[in-house]
Amino acid sequence: MTLLGDLVTAVRSGRIEVLDLTAPLVDSTPILLLPEPFGNTRPFRLEEISRYDDRGPAWYWNNISTGEHTGTHLDAPVHWVTGQGLADVSQIPARELVGAAAVLDFTAESAADPDFLLEVEHVKAWEAEHGQLPEQGWLLYRTGWDARSHDQEAFLNADEAGPHTPGISVECARWLAEEAPILGVGVETVGTDAGAAAGFDPPFPCHSFLLGAGKYGLTQLQNLALLPPTGAVLVTAPLPIVGGSGSPARVLALLER
Ligand code: MN
Repeated sequence: MTLLGDLVTAVRSGRIEVLDLTAPLVDSTPILLLPEPFGNTRPFRLEEISRYDDRGPAWYWNNISTGEHTGTHLDAPVHWVTGQGLADVSQIPARELVGAAAVLDFTAESAADPDFLLEVEHVKAWEAEHGQLPEQGWLLYRTGWDARSHDQEAFLNADEAGPHTPGISVECARWLAEEAPILGVGVETVGTDAGAAAGFDPPFPCHSFLLGAGKYGLTQLQNLALLPPTGAVLVTAPLPIVGGSGSPARVLALLER
């Protein structure tokens, strides 16, 4: 047998399970809402071209319109001003789209405090139990926020003071960008940064430090609850939009049973 032959056999027999971490793309898929005077992204839309009718009697197809950052999507380094001149989404090496996943679960903390922030100490405590974060892999930050993804209002969780969603502290974002061996951070929320991160110094530290370091972001993931702390392999497939700052992505996890 070959390695790939073994892989296919294991997938077919179910010994390797393939989990979909992607949110379905529908009109109501939550999107980020920036305050005035900033521009905003389009929601996802399907526009029918024909459906077995006189516009096309034997075929059904649609046009889609979407922002690059709608639904489960990847942030490329060029998305942020600190990463300008770095890779756009079409320039990410394909090899880097397959990597090990470390899953850090802060569901209880995020339920108790929607503004919960991941700190370096939390990651170091996880590493003491499970080993180092994966080289060229992903830190997947589980917060339970995927349970809210059917509802824009619950997902963004905003009040007069702004959105309240869990995220990563300034110091931890800097540490993950500069010292951790990972390729990127994946989250269940609308963006990799906390809801309150517009007021941090620097603002949106996860975007600022990680993308500035040539690393990636993955957002609006689902089903992280089904993953073990270590052992899963992520296959991430953003569209190769030339010049694109990101792309909706299908994200699959391979898991040994
Ligand atoms: Mn994004």
